[in-house]
Amino acid sequence: MPHLQDSWAVTNGILHGKLVAERVKAPIRQQTALLAEQGITLTLAVVRVGADPASEVYVRGKVRACAEVGILSRHHHLDATVTEAEIVALVEELNNDDSVDGILVQLPLPRGISESRIIAAVDPRKDVDGFHPLNLGQLFSGRSLLEPCTPAGCMLLLEAAGVPLSGKRAVVVGRSVIVGRPVAQMLVRADATVTMCHRFTEDLGACIAQADVVVVAAGVPGLIRGSWVKPGAAIIDVGINRLPTGKLTGDVEFEEAHARAGVITPVPGGVGPMTVAMLLWNTLVAAMLRRRLGMPRPAAQAWSV
Ligand code: ADP
Repeated sequence: MPHLQDSWAVTNGILHGKLVAERVKAPIRQQTALLAEQGITLTLAVVRVGADPASEVYVRGKVRACAEVGILSRHHHLDATVTEAEIVALVEELNNDDSVDGILVQLPLPRGISESRIIAAVDPRKDVDGFHPLNLGQLFSGRSLLEPCTPAGCMLLLEAAGVPLSGKRAVVVGRSVIVGRPVAQMLVRADATVTMCHRFTEDLGACIAQADVVVVAAGVPGLIRGSWVKPGAAIIDVGINRLPTGKLTGDVEFEEAHARAGVITPVPGGVGPMTVAMLLWNTLVAAMLRRRLGMPRPAAQAWSV
């Protein structure tokens, strides 16, 4: 039985992102309540453009999560026909609005709109997605104050499960700027030996078979075969794919991988809730730094007390 020992975050080899996310959210809720006593209300502005159905679901989840921890959210929904200049104008208005602590532009944006131009328009101090070139650059040269939510959530999951990283072989599947590249940097920072795989990788199975830790963000259901998994490995499945049956599934053959893995995240209930929790965390960090209130206690300490 290769499964990792049961703990508050892991049962029967399943790493419960929902439970870890709750532990991250609890101190955020406490902190916003303390700030509220001083008359400070944290505000997250969410910008959504067009009618992408997945984006609508994600935004709804983020707005709900804000309410849960006492963060005010403002939803700006623009029509798909809006111009790039109009989106930039809204972002600039939010940059200059002193009551706004965080700005999130929900991706993807409609075709014809330059995502990089919009992201670069966000004030780096309000960039709760951590995608601004300044924040990404800081991440790549060490640590950024606002780090991308999904990769940061993956790292906290590994930490919550007690997965050792130093000196271990980690394989990241997917090289997007949003997930694959930043999570690879974070794994390097944690002293893992990191291999990045992508759609041109020859013999993905051979890479996976060597990995003590696998983080998959490819958006291809069943891409990672259970039979490839090294016994005892930790598998973080970032994929969220909707099958024709309507069922949500990750990028990993779950049952087969679970049988071999030390620990594996489910879909749903794995990485997804962590992405949202880290967005709330980043909003708190952005607010406290901009208002010169210092840094909140690191999220990873949420379960060590
Ligand atoms: P995300 O937003 O989840 O990071 P993207 O769609 O931006 O996803 O990127 C998908 C990534 O997955 C790309 O880097 C791509 O190279 C990788 N990928 C897609 N298909 C495969 C495949 N069959 N094998 C390995 N990697 C793949």
